[in-house]
Amino acid sequence: MYDPKNIFARILRGEIPCDKVYEDDFVLAFRDIAPKAPVHILVIPKGAYSDLIDFSTHASGAEIEGFFRAVSKIAAEQGIVGDGFRSIANTGDHGGQEVPHFHLHLLGGAPIGPMVS
Ligand code: AMP
Repeated sequence: MYDPKNIFARILRGEIPCDKVYEDDFVLAFRDIAPKAPVHILVIPKGAYSDLIDFSTHASGAEIEGFFRAVSKIAAEQGIVGDGFRSIANTGDHGGQEVPHFHLHLLGGAPIGPMVS
């Protein structure tokens, strides 16, 4: 069940600010408030999806395409495509997901280190 009171839903509704880097019909992208890399962007769909499985199961084809097309644009705009970056979708309790609105972390700008430490 999607919780409309989660912090990313509140950002989408404009109730609290974010450091926006990109927006289109399908996604909003903003800087993580506690960055773990020189570039740390969160990309979120505008639709109400609680996690990766909810999004990949229930989003329309247009929403899924729009999301991933936007990811490539954002990564290019942030200058992290050439040297590479890490994308992470923490999912559920074991995945360490803190905010229950699907989001993809894009981490780059320096070597990110071991995948899990
Ligand atoms: P996750 O553990 O994958 O759910 O990651 C949630 C991320 O959201 C964390 O990296 C937080 O630092 C980040 N975060 C929480 N609140 C905000 C906020 N208001 N603006 C930007 N990033 C946030």
